[in-house]
Amino acid sequence: MAVSDSGTASGPVAAVDGDRLWAALMEMARIGATPGGGVGRLALTDLDRDGRDLFVSWCQEASLEVRIDRMGNIRARRPGTKPDAPPVMTGSHLDTQPLGGKFDGAYGVLAGLEVMRALNDAAVETRAPLEVVVWSDEEGVRFAGGAMASAVFAGRFGLDQALALPDREGTTTFGEELARIGYDGDAPCGGEPVSAFFEAQIEQGPVLDAAGTPIGAVLGAQGQRCYLVTVTGEEGHAGTLPMDLRRDAMVGAARMIDALNGLAFEFEPNPVITTGYLAVRPNSRNTIPGQVTFSIDARHPDDATMTAIDAQLRAVLKKTADQAGLGLELTQTSARDAVVFDPACVQAVRDAADRLGVAWRDIHSGAGHDACNLALCAPTGMIFVPCDDGISHNEREAARPENLATGCRILLDAMARWAGTV
Ligand SMILES: [Zn+2]
Repeated sequence: MAVSDSGTASGPVAAVDGDRLWAALMEMARIGATPGGGVGRLALTDLDRDGRDLFVSWCQEASLEVRIDRMGNIRARRPGTKPDAPPVMTGSHLDTQPLGGKFDGAYGVLAGLEVMRALNDAAVETRAPLEVVVWSDEEGVRFAGGAMASAVFAGRFGLDQALALPDREGTTTFGEELARIGYDGDAPCGGEPVSAFFEAQIEQGPVLDAAGTPIGAVLGAQGQRCYLVTVTGEEGHAGTLPMDLRRDAMVGAARMIDALNGLAFEFEPNPVITTGYLAVRPNSRNTIPGQVTFSIDARHPDDATMTAIDAQLRAVLKKTADQAGLGLELTQTSARDAVVFDPACVQAVRDAADRLGVAWRDIHSGAGHDACNLALCAPTGMIFVPCDDGISHNEREAARPENLATGCRILLDAMARWAGTV
């Protein structure tokens, strides 16, 4: 049914076909399918090209206007009755981790395609044009960074710099690989008004699945600070040096890591703090470690809290080092501010869920997404749906067809109402 100009009419704008969405996801997942039931479709490989080609063929069947920009982003447009109005965009990515799942990225792209197909079926016209976008290389596996193509679109990263990014073997570049697979388009990348961007994604975390809630209205994404810590003690013989005379860098590092873990529980909501890298010198079974270097990855959705965590983290490390008579060197290796999505976009997601009678909750994104870049240049929101046990970046990543269809209904409703229907 159509909606009134005021947007107050209830009921779906057009009917999403959940089976068709599922079939598209399963067909896309065949490209790069891994023996363990997942997908390995690395950015700008032949498999990525095959996935892109399949998506483009579907867009052409749906009478969408397809353009490729200079970063290889695919933009498929459904014109509105005001064709020059800024578009309402959706989309995500088709590249995956080496042993990734069927849904991370692909769901956001194919939910966008299903929105277009459903509007076509119902012959609903929108005022503003709608677009579904495939952002190149979101995962950042082959080329450092991740989400660089949406970063260029949003003006956060330079085009020439991005095209010159080397692959991890240092044998080719982003630009060369884009040309090789035939997706070095000539449309400009960014620098134009966008009415809004909505990205649908599986949560990639356990919150919605554990709560049994089908929709997450995403408030934003966590900020992140990364550090490298070097603890220096004194090497010694493991058999001859009494315990009370040791300056054991490993024991000091272990106490620090444990203290950081405890620190995470002193803030509400909890930050996530991880040490995933450790290097020991001399790394010998019968020598007391003289030096240990370890990483810290700390994330929280609120920047002010993140600053408080930073201060306490430094204090805890210093106190532990001082008590043990150890040297301490702390380097902050990166910092990324939290992303706060546009309140009107967040509300559009909640309103769509209410209209369709679907339970929702507010949620923060633990991971980074293309939407985090788009938030720099356009009103942006995200829709999360549950994935089984929160497992993602894993061949076992799974999601329920009914939840995927529900997320797509919310996406359609939010986009169509934002664009205005006639
Ligand atoms: Zn991912």
